[in-house]
Amino acid sequence: MGNDFFENLSETLSRTAKDISEKAENFYESQKLRNQISGEERIINKTMRNLGNLIYKRYEKGEAVDEEVAALCGEICQHKNKMEGLKKSAANRQGQKICKSCHNAISGDAAFCPYCGEPYTDEKEAPEKESSEKEAQEAEEEKEVNTEEESGEE
Ligand SMILES: [Zn+2]
Repeated sequence: MGNDFFENLSETLSRTAKDISEKAENFYESQKLRNQISGEERIINKTMRNLGNLIYKRYEKGEAVDEEVAALCGEICQHKNKMEGLKKSAANRQGQKICKSCHNAISGDAAFCPYCGEPYTDEKEAPEKESSEKEAQEAEEEKEVNTEEESGEE
């Protein structure tokens, strides 16, 4: 009877030890699987971002995209513009300006960007000059046409 008791006890103990090691191994394997799952998730998310960037670049180039894609790209574009405005305000507050080529903040009196080497042109003056030059050119062309017509009639 005493032997039975000890035999049962040792059997119970070895079963318990086996259960514990099984549980530990299960825990370890589950942890390993969870890590593998998050690894795959990270790769998927990164690839999704790359896919989005690819499509957005095509949209920026003016390539045809479907309506849903265009709506999302438009949303991104709006936020990009907003961010550029905010960056500009932040740079202004520190006496800096934003390079139009690489979008880094550069010193307010820099003539060239130290990051990309692009010359800094003031946004407000450049397009006005261009349009007034264009208008002058167009006016001259109109004059030429008028004189041609006049000389033709005479
Ligand atoms: Zn730059």
